[in-house]
Amino acid sequence: MKTIPTVIPTVTLVGAGPGDPDLLTIQAVKALRRATVALVDDLVHPGVLRHLRRTARVVPVGKRGGCASTPQAFIHRLMVAEAQRGETVVRVKGGDPFVFGRGGEECDALRAAGLQVEVVGGLTAGIAGPAAIGVPVTDRRHTRGVALVTGHTGTPEGDPDWAALARCGLTLVIYMGVMRLPAIARALTAAGLAADTPAAVVSRAHTPQQRQAMCRLDTLVDTVAAHGLDSPAIVVIGDVVRAAPMWAEHLRGTMESAAVATGAA
Ligand code: SAH
Repeated sequence: MKTIPTVIPTVTLVGAGPGDPDLLTIQAVKALRRATVALVDDLVHPGVLRHLRRTARVVPVGKRGGCASTPQAFIHRLMVAEAQRGETVVRVKGGDPFVFGRGGEECDALRAAGLQVEVVGGLTAGIAGPAAIGVPVTDRRHTRGVALVTGHTGTPEGDPDWAALARCGLTLVIYMGVMRLPAIARALTAAGLAADTPAAVVSRAHTPQQRQAMCRLDTLVDTVAAHGLDSPAIVVIGDVVRAAPMWAEHLRGTMESAAVATGAA
């Protein structure tokens, strides 16, 4: 029989990073080792779960866009119920829980139910993904900063202000953008972002399936299609892409095969 917990139960939101389990923080590993129940997103690398006790119960609660998914309210209820039963609950999320991860909503729901919440940050795909292909997203020689934006909001009103982003001079890092890339590229171009602005795409970064390509804004859509770069992927648009050693290779490669296509300064 379970003893009634005398302290307020705590649920820990754990950021599992973009893929490779070696990118977990030590805090994340400690939280996983303590857990008796883990609610796990489907972008989490299976190797991350090796840090759980053998007896821990794993509940997959995937939410991939377009696929069968677990309603958010159900996830909230489950976390609360398990914690109130005395389980040590971890909620394991891809990347960082607070970057397009609904971590804020989950914290609110848990606190509203009278629970304590701890959040263990993780490497976010929008920074670690570009880094995996040598792109330093805030390189001061090229930009004053970076905007992390979503390409998939579900509602037109929720879309980022692409026209403002085209003019802001910041590196654009787009999460969940592959499906809507044609519309995004059109909106940025219409707002005046130069056709030869460097761009890069990295799919499944920090996993054995990682694939990437470099191109320009005006060849972005074709490049993604030609290389079959699918979700999960990060799109980076901005001059910082030039800082990647791969950019020089890209220029050499495309200049040999199709000089007109690069045209990049
Ligand atoms: N909280 C996560 C983001 C969740 S939204 C984070 O901080 O990274 C899901 C999106 O993240 C995907 O559609 C994709 O754009 C991006 N993503 C997650 N893992 C990725 C990976 N390994 N490689 C490239 N993009 C990834």
